[in-house]
Amino acid sequence: MVKHALLSASGAHRWLECTPSAKLEEQFPKKTSSYAEEGTAAHELAELTARYWLGEITEAEYENRRDELAKGTYYNAEMQECANDYGKLVFEKYKQARENCEDAFAELEVKVDFSKWVKAGFGTGDCIIVADNILEIIDLKYGKGVRVEATGNPQMRLYALGALTKYGTLFDIDTVRMTIFQPRLSGAQSSDEISVKDLTAWANKYVKPRAKLAYKGEGDFAPSEEVCKFCRAKEQCRARAEHNLKLFDEAPDPLIISADEAGVILEKAADIRAWLSDLENLVFGNLMDGKPIAGWKLVEGRSNRKLADEEKVVEAMKAAGYDEALLYDRKLITLTQMESDFGKKAVAEILGPLIVKPKGKPTLAPASSNKPEYKPDEQVLAAFDETEG
Ligand code: SF4
Repeated sequence: MVKHALLSASGAHRWLECTPSAKLEEQFPKKTSSYAEEGTAAHELAELTARYWLGEITEAEYENRRDELAKGTYYNAEMQECANDYGKLVFEKYKQARENCEDAFAELEVKVDFSKWVKAGFGTGDCIIVADNILEIIDLKYGKGVRVEATGNPQMRLYALGALTKYGTLFDIDTVRMTIFQPRLSGAQSSDEISVKDLTAWANKYVKPRAKLAYKGEGDFAPSEEVCKFCRAKEQCRARAEHNLKLFDEAPDPLIISADEAGVILEKAADIRAWLSDLENLVFGNLMDGKPIAGWKLVEGRSNRKLADEEKVVEAMKAAGYDEALLYDRKLITLTQMESDFGKKAVAEILGPLIVKPKGKPTLAPASSNKPEYKPDEQVLAAFDETEG
């Protein structure tokens, strides 16, 4: 059975902010998803590929094991390509470390223990490269939904603390580099560096006292869209409900609201929208389990008509005198499907100039979004220049 830490590194961004969350989450079972299973399969393949790149296993060993993994449900060309990219990245970084320090070494799937700061805290680092002066941790994230930044990332920092505990006595390490690699987001890499002195100060002054509170389920709840997003208590947490219900309490009372006020309301609504959808899930789940919830019932959703038996449909239409060719509408599979079936690189090489990205329509985003701002005037001028040229 896989052991789970109460205060996990992956949940650190949550329990460091909202210290009572880890204890509260214990009441709710961990659910596994197909995305998590896909991630596990991708990590296994990536680890194997990196071992091959590092020369830890022979080509024959690699191929045998890879062929086994390729029988898995989630294996496809894209996953293989990502594993190759990860293996290459690990090797490149290792090679670079060796150029500066001949004793440098790389280890994969390293169990790290950061319990000096976080009670019973441990985790697994995908890859750790240790050299004189610098220790690097590489974390592979197979998901493509959210871009994760390494800067100030508490999960990476906790891994770094565990790695320093393990290897700190072997070398004179004064800096830690943390790299997050997201091959499915166009090979996105994000790195952050911190001195061992600053990392230790962060751990002693910030992490240790907050972990103490979190372990006991004490401290203040700190609900926000970001913090609650993956909390297992998010549907039933009272602190979150009260926080969201209070959001509009201080709303002013004139007859007409200004656009600025609408902006303020919309900003708060992001939290509310996520919360309402979590409440819907909770009520829906209860009704599906046969538990009545006052004011709500299940109804049949919309559905579209469909043809029950394709072969019989074709026969019937042909018998009625229609040409079979008229019954089919051949369509290309989508670009995403091609990348998944044949691999991103292969598709980019073959179709590069044929892949275009039309300009997206302007949409609303919170001011904190890291996407570049769309300036209506500039866009209009650019369009004007294009027509002029
Ligand atoms: S739902 Fe939000 S406020 Fe409630 S425990 Fe989880 S993280 Fe904290």
